[in-house]
Amino acid sequence: MKRILFLLLAGALVLLAGCGGKTAPEKTKEGKLPVVASFYAMKEMTEAIGGDKVAVTTLIPEGTEPHDFQPTTKSMKDLSRARVLVIQGLGMEPWAEEMVKAAENRNLVQVVAAREVPPIANEDAEEAREHGQYDPHAWLSPACAQVEAAAIVRGLSQADPANAGYYQANGEKFIGRLRQLEAAYKGKFQDLPRKEFVTGHAAFAYLCRDFGLEQNSVEGVFASGEPNARQLASLVEYCRDHQVRTIFTEAAVSPKTSESLAREVGAKVVPIHTLEGGEGEGDYLVQMEENLARIYESLK
Ligand SMILES: [Zn+2]
Repeated sequence: MKRILFLLLAGALVLLAGCGGKTAPEKTKEGKLPVVASFYAMKEMTEAIGGDKVAVTTLIPEGTEPHDFQPTTKSMKDLSRARVLVIQGLGMEPWAEEMVKAAENRNLVQVVAAREVPPIANEDAEEAREHGQYDPHAWLSPACAQVEAAAIVRGLSQADPANAGYYQANGEKFIGRLRQLEAAYKGKFQDLPRKEFVTGHAAFAYLCRDFGLEQNSVEGVFASGEPNARQLASLVEYCRDHQVRTIFTEAAVSPKTSESLAREVGAKVVPIHTLEGGEGEGDYLVQMEENLARIYESLK
């Protein structure tokens, strides 16, 4: 009898040891797949594909500059209750790995949306040392977004196979619209003699790669500091050399320097969306199209 009790106890202990971590609920109270996305653009893309079968929360609160984010107690709690985590990758979420470890969520499916996107190296040596070797802003390119959407379809389908067909159909529709957008603007940009534009922080390298354009910016890839006098002077020269008549500003970067630059070179200031913090109106595709239309307008 004693021996049987011992065996039972030992079995229970083994079972406990094998249960390190928690299991997130399969569905929310409303019967939806619980998903967390790192920031606004990831949430938008996940909702376009997940439709009414998913409940998506962002880990980085709207209005927070994502390049400076540190996980909070609330974001930890959200992650421990999610079945899927969607992040961009390419160094956009340097905190993600530690956070996933700490959450100990055993049935979490992780989607690194940009995993199969051909990366662009971060050319600023100091930023590369501090933030990693790649530019993370792939979600602002219609070509890269198609690759990312496919990754999200796979992740949602893995976590919720019963609705795989639904995610697939939404994914195809979303990718189709991105393809149309890409095709429409490829021709338009090709016909323009000018290709250079200036933004708040250097978030558009992947978009530039799609369309053969060139960006310059007030702040670097990670929006980590105002330019010094020498950098500002060379930016003024760049604007004059390339007849830049529009300076784009973003919600997350202070427009002060952009405004004085615009005054200096006689340009106007126009908002552009980085889709990092969710300040713009309209969904992902609407804001992407607005970006392309405004850049095109500025180069005509
Ligand atoms: Zn950025």
